[in-house]
Amino acid sequence: MTLAHEAFKRLCSYGKEETVAPGSILFRQGDAGLDLFVVLKGRLEMFETKRDGFVHVVHAVAEGAFTGELDLFNSRRSLLSCRATRRSDVLRISRERLQVLLQSEGDLAEAIVFACLGRREELMRAGHGGAVVIGSARCSDTLRVRDFFVRSRNPHRFVDVSLNEDAAALVHLLECSNADLPAVFLAGQGLLRNPSNRELAEPLGLAGKTVPRRECDLAIIGAGPAGLAAAVYAASEGLHTVVLERHATGGQAGTSSRIENYLGFPTGISGQQLAANAEIQAQRFGAELLITHAAGRICHCGERIDVELGDGAVIQAKAALVATGARYRRLDLEMSSDCAEKVAVHYAATPLEALHCAGEVVIVVGGGNSAGQAALFLSRHASHVHLVVRRDTLSETMSNYLIQRLSSNPNVTLHCGAAISRIEASGENTIAVIVRASDRRQSQCVTRNIFTMIGAAPNTEWLEGTLALDAAGFIVTGNTSDGIRSTYATSLPGVFAVGDVRSGSVKRVASAAGEGAAVISEIHRYLAEACAVSMTAA
Ligand SMILES: Cc1cc2nc3c(=O)[nH]c(=O)nc-3n(C[C@H](O)[C@H](O)[C@H](O)COP(=O)(O)OP(=O)(O)OC[C@H]3O[C@@H](n4cnc5c(N)ncnc54)[C@H](O)[C@@H]3O)c2cc1C
Repeated sequence: MTLAHEAFKRLCSYGKEETVAPGSILFRQGDAGLDLFVVLKGRLEMFETKRDGFVHVVHAVAEGAFTGELDLFNSRRSLLSCRATRRSDVLRISRERLQVLLQSEGDLAEAIVFACLGRREELMRAGHGGAVVIGSARCSDTLRVRDFFVRSRNPHRFVDVSLNEDAAALVHLLECSNADLPAVFLAGQGLLRNPSNRELAEPLGLAGKTVPRRECDLAIIGAGPAGLAAAVYAASEGLHTVVLERHATGGQAGTSSRIENYLGFPTGISGQQLAANAEIQAQRFGAELLITHAAGRICHCGERIDVELGDGAVIQAKAALVATGARYRRLDLEMSSDCAEKVAVHYAATPLEALHCAGEVVIVVGGGNSAGQAALFLSRHASHVHLVVRRDTLSETMSNYLIQRLSSNPNVTLHCGAAISRIEASGENTIAVIVRASDRRQSQCVTRNIFTMIGAAPNTEWLEGTLALDAAGFIVTGNTSDGIRSTYATSLPGVFAVGDVRSGSVKRVASAAGEGAAVISEIHRYLAEACAVSMTAA
């Protein structure tokens, strides 16, 4: 990617010139907090060193082009190393100067951000610089680890032990038991045995700084559409913003194969792409994301709000925003432990799950848009999809465009007014018994994959006894926060709630993002009022 002459001159005003000798390493795979380098004269190359020491050149950076990838905006570790192939003059733009540039030079920021997103996309596609995951395609921990890599946009290569003799031999040599799988090889980390998401996030540079006590203006809990939108508005309006996310950015939206009704994307956008764009947008304005950190408790502590994390660390904020969304309820299925081992119950339908059940019969349970989208998406990969809906009709719960597409799809069978009553074993197979409520008629379906997308439960267990919740556990808002009535204020002054977790909210990406944006002006008002009160008291 090269820039026009005038833009290039402006870019140069942010950096300092350096001359580097042939073979000089500018940064290494695994380094974090990288500067940006622009090639003025000469040539750089980006390369990956494989585990066997083999060096693979991924791409060259020619005169007028710049280095940089997703790790320019956060504390992610570099997936590639960079060296000069000949004596070269480069311009080094430090992190601090880059932050200034990103906020004040819209066109340059656009060029840099899009180049970086594109490069990560390419690395994801080719699997360069990423991890190697060795496990079994049907193992839930392997699926969890792969899902984490995909959703956090880290390339990985998967090797199935049951299909690859060399991998099976390696697992044996390393004395990995079944419980140790998946075995994950990360650059510079050696072997990780069935690592937790946190154990992956730390070496990848996603977990952020976890000192015992951190201070900020606003702590946002949850990085779904609501939390990310709030982070963009808060950080861009000058609030020091820390976002806590227990799993991966994007929330429920991040598990959607395609969101077609979000404004501004005429052909739709995948949930993961939307999340990746929003994450970079928030970081570009200076918001800090701490991934794999779950909030465990929230309380008022003097003039501050303390958000306690599972590992004992505390975020001390002037205000807090709960955007922890919801998750699908578990399906209450009757099945033997033998069946439970063979049947995978999924709560998302992303390309990873699609790969998992390619060519097989699958069942999707649910009558909402998410179930409809999942059924349509899976119908392109599975041999057949059965959509099981408790209600007699879809018209009240699903968008018309989805109903039309499902009804005309020969690869989808609709079972309205029905439910799965049990899963039975039949030799090596497992059979789901679907019962129609009106006449108790049963149909049987041989399957190993059930996707459940039924009624969402709010992620508020950790708030019971702290915030006022409605009968279903959603956060009640519309309270008075320090004398000011606010649509999004909870029962605890200084703590606000937005998105799916809020009682009475519309459960949509656009409304979650809209609430995330709108709440920031209320938080500004609260902070100004709280500041005035403390000055009067002093
Ligand atoms: C498969 C699917 C498809 C969908 N398709 C569409 C669509 O096409 N159009 C549409 O408008 N809507 C769609 N929706 C609904 C939409 O995704 C949600 O309304 C939206 O994501 C809600 O955003 P949110 O930020 O409020 O919550 P969420 O998206 O639920 O995000 C909450 C985040 O908080 C995190 N979290 C939870 N507890 C904690 C904690 N204690 N500490 C730290 N982090 C925590 C979670 O891990 C999560 O990342 C779909 C939903 C699904 C599941």
